[in-house]
Amino acid sequence: MSRGFHFYGSSPPLLFLLLFGVPSSDSPPLHLRLRSGPSHSPSGFLFTPDYESSPSFPDRMGDLAVEKHAEYILSVEKRKDDFESLVMEHLRLNGAYWGLTTLDIMHKMGSVNPDEVVAWILSCQDKESGGFGGNVGHDPHVLYTLSAVQVLALLDRLDAIDVNKVSDYVAGLQNEDGSFAGDIWGEVDTRFSYVAICCLSLLHRLNKINVEKAVDYIVSCKNLDGGFGSIPGGESHAGQIFCCIGALAITGSLHHVDRDLLGWWLCERQCKDGGLNGRPEKLTDVCYSWWVLSSLIMIDRVHWIDKNKLSKFILNCQDLEKGGISDRPDNAVDVFHTYFGVAGLSLMEYPGLKPIDPAYALPVDVVNRIFFQK
Ligand SMILES: [Zn+2]
Repeated sequence: MSRGFHFYGSSPPLLFLLLFGVPSSDSPPLHLRLRSGPSHSPSGFLFTPDYESSPSFPDRMGDLAVEKHAEYILSVEKRKDDFESLVMEHLRLNGAYWGLTTLDIMHKMGSVNPDEVVAWILSCQDKESGGFGGNVGHDPHVLYTLSAVQVLALLDRLDAIDVNKVSDYVAGLQNEDGSFAGDIWGEVDTRFSYVAICCLSLLHRLNKINVEKAVDYIVSCKNLDGGFGSIPGGESHAGQIFCCIGALAITGSLHHVDRDLLGWWLCERQCKDGGLNGRPEKLTDVCYSWWVLSSLIMIDRVHWIDKNKLSKFILNCQDLEKGGISDRPDNAVDVFHTYFGVAGLSLMEYPGLKPIDPAYALPVDVVNRIFFQK
């Protein structure tokens, strides 16, 4: 549970890529199984905004530097030789997901050439297994495979892949006990359960795995504090909780969750500075805005945190000169935290942003396109 696992350490970002997805072809789309949401959003997960009644909330769109952040994301894509690009080399597919989703939420996808992106994504596929690597010539892994599927979904180009080949790769990673390995090396983690379920759901191929066993395995990772770990007995962590709750939501299995107990653990993640941490006694970090908020929304307890304070925390992490968002105020920005900052604000219905689905981590309109117009 150590290496490269971003939300387990303070080291440079990386690895987690929680990317997000959609319901299966044989069960009702997620949002149909939930109560209806606020007026402008089709997602039943979103809560009613309270900005109108909050005079202390900063000046709307003016406070989120949309133009700067879009410029920053596009500039990272163009730089190939600086430190951040080097660090991102092995996870470029994840980076593409983070960057493009952020642009889409901010209504800035017009600056992207979809054909170029699709061609590059296809070049990252391992033709033999059907899985995707983090970059051209890299070994396939379920994490990158989900990123590839998510970006293609975002661009409405899922027709560019052989869906059966890709879904066979993902389904082939399920173990006898219902858990999932990340790749051929066999490491097991509830992150991979989420990623596989999300990916197969987006491809309308959940029927290729044993969903009941997959759910049973995730439930076996539930702790006495209401949270979830990476394996049975593993410590509760906000990132892991997102994965487990997301997977349970997609499979219609949230009845396994003690919402009050888990909601209490999650809302206690908010610290005095308004930001959220991932575990007790840890520092606040913008990326937990996503893991914690999305989980709270899915279990209908998001009103237990102070959204205005969290919004201000995120906005204070912006680099207003060069664009981008950092993990905490005055630190260096990166694409990972820029995505989670903007996505967190979207979950809180920040004015002017597209709503994002908390289980699939894709814009709600993309999720709707996949599940209602297939
Ligand atoms: Zn972080």
